Amino acid sequence: MIWDDFLNSMWRDWRGSGRNEDRLESPEWIGQWLSEHRLTVPHLPSPQEMIELKRLRDLLLRIVQAFTAGSRPDPEDLGELNRVMADGPVVRQLVQTDERYRLDYVPTLLSWTQIRAEIAASFAQTLADKDPARMRICSNPDCLWVYYDDTRNRSKRYCDDKLCGNLMKVRRFRARKKAGD
Ligand SMILES: [Zn+2]
Repeated sequence: MIWDDFLNSMWRDWRGSGRNEDRLESPEWIGQWLSEHRLTVPHLPSPQEMIELKRLRDLLLRIVQAFTAGSRPDPEDLGELNRVMADGPVVRQLVQTDERYRLDYVPTLLSWTQIRAEIAASFAQTLADKDPARMRICSNPDCLWVYYDDTRNRSKRYCDDKLCGNLMKVRRFRARKKAGD
């Protein structure tokens, strides 16, 4: 999805070195992310556009945090999400594919304003179509990766059980051992 890749552009070293990296600042990461999601924009974000992108990232994170805390997002934040979407209008287009038809929403502007609207729309689509209570932030405090829990029993606590899950198991084990010494 466009939005979770975007949110996770704030990368933290899950192993706990304290290193982190804002991948939004990397033109290479931006180029890859745009092409993966078939988004087009003629230039890299200007300093002002970068500020607005980060503001949107903070907004999405606040909404996710509200859901992971078991509550609902601030109506003002939802209002802001709607404003971001309104700034990047789309036109509807019926497309024929072999035997079938598909309804496309085609962005009208080639700008970062439009890209922000596409990010916001992909997030809004997840809220509307899926269960927002399944949004998660990895329980490893060094990681904080944002993901959608699609396990059957809603019990996914880590972004990756083999990585963050195991690391936290080892940490708990060491802490218990230390306490027992
Ligand atoms: Zn993690």
